[in-house]
Amino acid sequence: MSYVDEVLASVREKNTDQPEFIQAVTEVLESIRPVVDASEKKYRDAALLERLVEPDRVIMFRVPWTDDAGKVHVQRGFRVQFNNAIGPYKGGLRFHPSVYIGILKFLGFEQVFKNALTTLPIGGAKGGSDFDPHGKSDAEVMRFCQSFMTELYKYVGADIDVPAGDIGVGGREVGYLFGQYKRITGSYEGMLTGKGLTFGGSLIRTQATGYGLLYHTEEILRLNGQTLAGKTVSVSGAGNVAIYAAEKAEQLGAKVVTVSDSTGWIYDPDGIDVALLKEVKEVRRARLTEYKAKKPNAVYHEGRGVWTVKVDYAFPCATQNELNLDDAKALVSNGCQGVFEGANMPTTAEATKYLQENGVLFTPGKASNAGGVATSALEMSQNSERLSWTEEEVDSRLKSIMTGIADTIDAAARKYGMPGNYVAGANIAGFEKVAEAMLAQGVY
Ligand code: GLU
Repeated sequence: MSYVDEVLASVREKNTDQPEFIQAVTEVLESIRPVVDASEKKYRDAALLERLVEPDRVIMFRVPWTDDAGKVHVQRGFRVQFNNAIGPYKGGLRFHPSVYIGILKFLGFEQVFKNALTTLPIGGAKGGSDFDPHGKSDAEVMRFCQSFMTELYKYVGADIDVPAGDIGVGGREVGYLFGQYKRITGSYEGMLTGKGLTFGGSLIRTQATGYGLLYHTEEILRLNGQTLAGKTVSVSGAGNVAIYAAEKAEQLGAKVVTVSDSTGWIYDPDGIDVALLKEVKEVRRARLTEYKAKKPNAVYHEGRGVWTVKVDYAFPCATQNELNLDDAKALVSNGCQGVFEGANMPTTAEATKYLQENGVLFTPGKASNAGGVATSALEMSQNSERLSWTEEEVDSRLKSIMTGIADTIDAAARKYGMPGNYVAGANIAGFEKVAEAMLAQGVY
């Protein structure tokens, strides 16, 4: 059995209760096969793959909090510190009822390669809780965040592990988490990113994942002789990534006709009104039915269905495994020419394969959504030098990082004889950097 197959078999056996983690590891190990096969002895002797698929540590803790009625609840809190070969652990916190160890291990594993692709010195981690912020008051969210940080503070720090936001964790939550860290430790340091602009946050961090996705897409399209201007596109999700992906797509001359949330989706033939979407989602924290109420021309559908709309390009920006094989078939039969992931692993393995086999350009989230964490690393740089850069400075660095990632994954795919296979390109380029750093640092 080849080394890759041996490690894959062992990962499947040891993690039977974690399908998303198995899915993420399988995708990476399958794509780095040519690189590993070419130097099998070197990697096998160092047990490099076994070390790569096992997190450095998993921290799990109890998070008790009291609701506004005085009732005490207990949530689970986690931090998966996956790999710090190339820099301090870095990755978001997710607050969502679906959070369990398998989701955070998949996200932490993806983050290792994503962060390597940014070219910046950050390792990979992820954390979060099964807490659901929906429908909670600000005071409840604050008490939850304070309780969460009262345990997490022991394991994080500006040179150790730097969390940020993800699903269910935005500026409000980061603010409460930062306040509690400072209160407990007395240390004013850049140990969280996505902070508010008055206390060490970076301009453009809020927009970075969505904007970065579009900068990346424009370069991928350019490399393939296509352009975004004048095209019709679909976006799923209505959170931070989706909102700023839609905003930048429209600035670049595309028409965005869909967005979605956990209960339904909007088709807006006039193009999504991003200002209204922000008002509904960022200010009122309401459902998309309120978008429809203000926009009579738009159509609201219950349930899922974004991928049935005829578009030139699709941007899944909601959550993992939201685009399945049937969705991929619908996109292809409607003439879709590109799928660019804004969320982490939103496309199932079967759907990805189908899209690639049918000539659809496809970029994996670990490459195309790296703009968020890249800008987090820029926030860390600004905190270290105790300065704030201008919007132009951050945006131009973000653009060059995202264009650079597109060029890197394109070159890596070509080098290994798989031109246009950006899944392989991203995994190979990320792996080469992390593997070299791990080998150089000895067995650990
Ligand atoms: N949660 C984001 C991601 O998936 C950002 C993480 C960060 O900024 O650390 O990459």
